[in-house]
Amino acid sequence: MNKVLLSGARIWDGSGSPTFDGDVLVEGNRIRAVSRVRGQIAATDCQVIEARGMTLMPGLVEGHAHLSFESVTSVEDLIASPPEEQTLLTARVAKTLLDNGFTSAYGASEAKLRLGVAVRNEVDAGRLPGPRIRAGSIEISVTGAMGDESRLHNPRVGPAIIVDGPEEMRKAVRLCCREGCDNIKLDVSGDPFYMNCPGECTPMSFDEVRMAVETAHGYGRRVNVHTRSILGTQYSIRAGVDVLYHVEHTDEQTLDMLEEAKDQIFIAPTVSLFHTMLYEASPWITPEVARSMGADRMLELSAKTHTELRKRGIRHLIGGDYGFAWSKNGTNARDLEFFVKYYGYTPAEALRCATQNGGALMMLGREEKLGEIREGYLADLLVVDGDSLSDLSVLRNRDRLVVIMKNGDLYKNSRSLIQQRAVA
Ligand SMILES: [Zn+2]
Repeated sequence: MNKVLLSGARIWDGSGSPTFDGDVLVEGNRIRAVSRVRGQIAATDCQVIEARGMTLMPGLVEGHAHLSFESVTSVEDLIASPPEEQTLLTARVAKTLLDNGFTSAYGASEAKLRLGVAVRNEVDAGRLPGPRIRAGSIEISVTGAMGDESRLHNPRVGPAIIVDGPEEMRKAVRLCCREGCDNIKLDVSGDPFYMNCPGECTPMSFDEVRMAVETAHGYGRRVNVHTRSILGTQYSIRAGVDVLYHVEHTDEQTLDMLEEAKDQIFIAPTVSLFHTMLYEASPWITPEVARSMGADRMLELSAKTHTELRKRGIRHLIGGDYGFAWSKNGTNARDLEFFVKYYGYTPAEALRCATQNGGALMMLGREEKLGEIREGYLADLLVVDGDSLSDLSVLRNRDRLVVIMKNGDLYKNSRSLIQQRAVA
């Protein structure tokens, strides 16, 4: 069994405790020992990585991955691309995420049903580089809502399965389960990109959401919801969904419901979407167009809602909706700084969203543990050249990630840090 000793680093373990100097021993795919004193773990028969002066922390988790989105500028990009090209693209994005310190990617949804599944299977088999993947399904939506691109004169297929009524929902969810998706994605609310069904609308019915959850949970799968509306969020909580995305419009009752469910749910606010639309998406979306779509108002609402939810102890996830031309996959760690700027998180708290919360999400319903540096946990680790706690921006620079370990394997190991030590 391979053994790696990460020696002398400043360790931030993701538990909420302050950093300490020490050593971590990885054996196989697990963290075998954590010492709070340097030099206490015998370096017998193991590869030693001297990491003095660097930060050792858990790998990052993208909580709302679109592995099949690469420089998307319109919904048409998702529909028109052939599946063969999209599969290759999805594999490329998976590698990009791992190269940038994301050792896990929880799939929100993909452009076609089996893209996440196929790449997950190849990564799990060790034939392609990529993070741990929970494969997102294609989106499931209803007639006239987000994802329904058809018009009477122009029927279209994708980027969602369109269902109407609980029975059609049951069938669609079963199909996604049969084809191997880990997470089922529902478009419960509308979206600013859809003129006929903006974010405050709730086109999906409670019975449809409930049917999706019952069916998916019956297969041991998770349910993710796109919800920006008050009613959509309330339906989702009442139906027992696992992960909520966006959640901008709220009221006191909805905030209370979310707080009450905080041990069952995770929320990814996907803050980058509106920030980048407003400030960085030109020429594809000019600031004027972004404002006309209400992006400024949505960003304001997001800041208000998620600052409040932070105070109420909601398990927030970083990431979300990277994959557009103006917010490329690989830059996902920017969310850490957005969490500080918009939601009032401290850098350490933002990092816990990316590690401890993300790890709990990835292992939901499983016995294994992920997302902290703790004995017995799965060994997904980063060694960072710099102090990621005082300067989150170092995590945006892949050259500063000198070691990337996934499941005990050294995916990246640079700067001659490794010194083979003689057997003691
Ligand atoms: Zn998304």
